[in-house]
Parts: sequence; C-alpha cells; structure tokens
Amino acid sequence: MKAIEDILIVGGGTAGWLTAAFLAQQLGTAHGGVRITLVESSDIGIIGVGEGTFPSIRGTLSAIGISESRFLQACSATFKQGIRFNDWVRPPVDQRGAGESGPDHYFHPFSLPSQRPGAPELLPYWLMGDAGPDRAFAEAVTLQKAVVDARHGPKRATDGDFMGALNYAYHFDAGRFAALLAEQAQSLGVKRVIATVDQVELDEQGAIAGVVTREAGALRAGLYVDCSGFHARLIGQALGAPFTSLNDTLFVDRALAMQVPYDRPDTPIASCTLSTAQRNGWIWDIGLQERRGIGHVYSSRHTDDEQAERELRHYIGPAADALSPRKLTLNVGYRETQWVKNCVAVGLSGGFLEPLESSGIGLIETAAYLIAQLFPFDGDTEPVARHFNRFMSERYARIVDFIKLHYAVTKRQDTAFWRDNADPASHPDSLKDKLAMWRHRPPQRLDFITDVEMYLPASWQYVLYGMEYDTQLQGARAGWRRAEEARKEFGMIAQLGQHAVRDLPRHRDLIEMMLSRAGL
Ligand code: FAD
Repeated sequence: MKAIEDILIVGGGTAGWLTAAFLAQQLGTAHGGVRITLVESSDIGIIGVGEGTFPSIRGTLSAIGISESRFLQACSATFKQGIRFNDWVRPPVDQRGAGESGPDHYFHPFSLPSQRPGAPELLPYWLMGDAGPDRAFAEAVTLQKAVVDARHGPKRATDGDFMGALNYAYHFDAGRFAALLAEQAQSLGVKRVIATVDQVELDEQGAIAGVVTREAGALRAGLYVDCSGFHARLIGQALGAPFTSLNDTLFVDRALAMQVPYDRPDTPIASCTLSTAQRNGWIWDIGLQERRGIGHVYSSRHTDDEQAERELRHYIGPAADALSPRKLTLNVGYRETQWVKNCVAVGLSGGFLEPLESSGIGLIETAAYLIAQLFPFDGDTEPVARHFNRFMSERYARIVDFIKLHYAVTKRQDTAFWRDNADPASHPDSLKDKLAMWRHRPPQRLDFITDVEMYLPASWQYVLYGMEYDTQLQGARAGWRRAEEARKEFGMIAQLGQHAVRDLPRHRDLIEMMLSRAGL
C-alpha cells in the first residue's frame, strides 16, 4: 500500500473546481501537503446551467476563502431566500375546473420556523387552525415570506457592517462561478492542465494506473477524482460503475434553457427561485444582476420538445422572441458506487437529480467535505470507499424522496404527467412510509437520520403543508394545550414581518450597496 501524495481531478466545471479548491484548502496543498492537479478539456464545455444553491454554499465559499462581495461581483450573483412554487398544488387559475379553488402558490423559505425559547412549537397549532383560516404555513411561522414577496434582501447594513437576519443562499452565473473557483483553487496551489483525456489505463487490480491526454501526455496520481460531468470518463466509461436510473420515479429528463436579459438595468430582482409547474414539467426562473436564467424541465414520456418550447416561450413572453433555447438531455439517477478503488466521482459523473431543490451543487459540497474528512493518506482506500458509497447513496435516496414529495401529494389531475406522479406506484417505499406516518401527526426530527439528510425536517414541513397535505391530528391533539401562547406568537410573527419589510433594503439596492462598500 502506497501513501497518497497527489490527486488528479478530471474536469473543470463546478464540481472539478469546487472540489479542487476545497481539498487544496483542507489538505494544505500550498504548504507542502497533498499535491493537486486538475485537467480540463478545451474541446468539451461545462454544463453551465446550475445557478441556484442551498445555504450550505455560504460555509463552503468561506472555507475556500471567497468573500461574499467578491463572489457577488465576479458571478453576477444575487440572494436566494427560498423557492416559490407556483401552480404545483392545482392548475393555474385560468385552467381550473369547477370546485378547484385555493391558493396558486406556496413558499419554501430557508429560515427555520420561529421557535423562541420557552414558546410552543408552532406547527401543531397551525394545523389546528390557530394561525387563522387562510394563513399559509410558511407565512405563519417565518418573516421570510413577507420579505420575499416585497422583493427585499435578507439583511441590512448596520454600523458599517451587514448583519445577518434571514437565512439565504445565492443565485449566480454558472460559467463565471467556475472561473472564480478556478482562480481561487490555483491561488491555493492547484495546478491546471488544459488537455483532453483520451485513454484511461488500468492496473492488474483494476485500479486506475494513469490517464493519457492528447495535449499533455500521461498524467498519474495516487487518487483520481472524476468530475467529467455526464461523460463519467473514469467512473463510468473506464471502471464501469453501474448507473441506477430513476426514470420511473422522477419523470423529467429534458431541459430547455435560455438567458433572458432585463429590459431595464434597474429591474427589481426576485430574491427567491420561482418554480412554475407546467402541464408536463416545470419552469425555473432565476434572477441574476444582469439577466434571468429560465429553463423548462419536462418529461419526454409525456410531451415533446416542440410543445415544451411553446410553453417556455409563453412563460417568458416577447423577451424570448430573439432567443434560441439550449437543449439538454438529462440522465436522472446515480451510481451506488461512486468511489471505486482509487477513483471517486463528484458532480454529474456520480449522479443527477432534477434541479427542483438545488441539490446538485449541495451534493458536490457533501462529496468534497467527505473526501477531505475521510482522506486515505496511507493509501488504504477500501474502507473509505465503502463508507463514502454508503453515505452518498443514502443521501441521494433521501433527496429523491424529498423531490418526489413535491409531486406525490399534488391535487393536479389535469394531465397524465401529474396523475402518474400522484400514483403511489411511482413513490419510493421510504416516502410512502413517511406519508403514512404523517397522516396523523406532523413530521418531526426523529423521522430523519439528520447527518444523512440534505434537507432539514423544516424543509419537509414547508413542502408538505405548502402542498396542503391533510394531517388529521386525532389522538395527538390532546397533547397540545398551549393554543393561547401559540396565537400570540403567530400575531407577533405577522407584525415582525411588516417591520422587516420596512427595515430591509430592496434586493437590488442591497447588492449595489455591498459592491460599492467593497469598492467593486
Ligand atoms: P460539467 O459542468 O459538465 O463539467 C464537466 C467538465 O469535465 C468540463 O470541464 C469538461 O471539459 C470536462 N471533461 C469532460 N470529459 C473530459 C475529458 N475526456 N478530458 C478532460 N476533461 C473532460 N445544480 C444546482 O445545485 N442548482 C441548480 O439550480 C441546478 N440546475 C440544473 C439545471 C439543469 C438543466 C442541469 C442539467 C443541472 C443543474 N444542476 C443544478 C446541476 C449542476 O449544473 C451540476 O451539478 C454542476 O454544474 C456540476 O457539473 P459538473 O462539474 O459535474 O459537470
């Protein structure tokens, strides 16, 4: 067994450069630690569409030494406080049948439900109607919905500094993000090679002995990280790690993406992702500083590309007239063995789940953290690989449940796409178990193994009750006897929401203030 002294990363998209920067920082590459080389092809582009993130990105950027203002400036980035889901519960208002009335949207905020010390947990009282008859769950338990509806930012300037108030992540330009990460990784000691890997050589045990590139000859290392995107050049093509398709659970497998400029430079920017359900998929709408990134993901089993493009153009309106969409085919699923001998896959080479809750970059962060924490310095990769594979496949499976939850409890019956999604035959057993338990009590912490979950119990609660799931409290009702206090809390949250809207700057103003303070 030979100690691992160097790493070769294949691929220079978000996965490659984020992993490179994080490992270089953690493994002390610039200070005589593990050496890292990243090889990327100038012929094969990056996917360039992942533009929404999860709040964990803030810790990751800080760990690799990228400040918020530098990131905002370099990546045309904006603040994301959650996701607004339009038309997911029932069809759009103008397409509803008789008796189909109710809200046209719900919100998944990043801030947790309010829980002041000594105050009761609010969810059971919301379920019992103590927040008022028409108050949606997210609106009743956080200020964030009011702030996002007003298109204000998540924080404000005080005493020369910016104080954190509400939880948030970012939206950003994917191409510019990879470039920023590349700059940072190289400053942390990562060596960059521009070359295309043509061959992968295996040794007699079936591990990778080296890669042969067109432009830079052979490259060798103790550990190989496959970040080659959907090509999966090492983990799939060379090592044959099987890919488990999820087409029978998550139906969307095509995407059409457009970049839509604002018509005025001062157009207000939404501070959440908008996700608007369509007849056979959904449209994402992400506001950056200079443009929106908009895309339609849809199921090729239920519609065709022409119809999907018509729906996308209808959503965007005249601004789309001069634009052509980029078309992508998506392999939805993941490899249960993402670490094989001396090769570990990170990013799209390991798996892809539809981008409904921005899990893609979150999974890259998880993989990079795990590789750094578990790093097999002595060269004994086998126990590490087994643990990594168990952890990552469990994390993927839990995310699949969470994404499917958005579809599983819909009331939409207007197309086969929605009927198939609501059909329990397409629901994983683990999700069926959860939904069965939540018929008579709300989700709580012990329903989850939290280290494995990407989404905290609060996220499940926001989506479950945003989708109007009917939890009948029955026997549990007698245990909740603090309705009076809960009603006061609900009243206070509503008031604080109004204060927050008054106090917090408009989203675009916040970004401009931050950039000008940083002299950018
Ligand atoms: P890529 O960006 O494809 O990079 C692959 C790299 O490998 C490139 O540099 C390429 O040159 C290199 N390469 C390939 N083959 C070779 C070779 N033989 N030799 C040398 N180099 C090679 N995630 C989110 O978190 N939020 C979102 O909102 C989101 N939206 C998405 C929307 C869509 C439609 C899709 C498809 C994905 C989305 N994702 C999202 C996922 C996200 O885009 C990816 O997880 C992320 O960009 C990482 O991609 P990657 O680096 O693995 O692959």
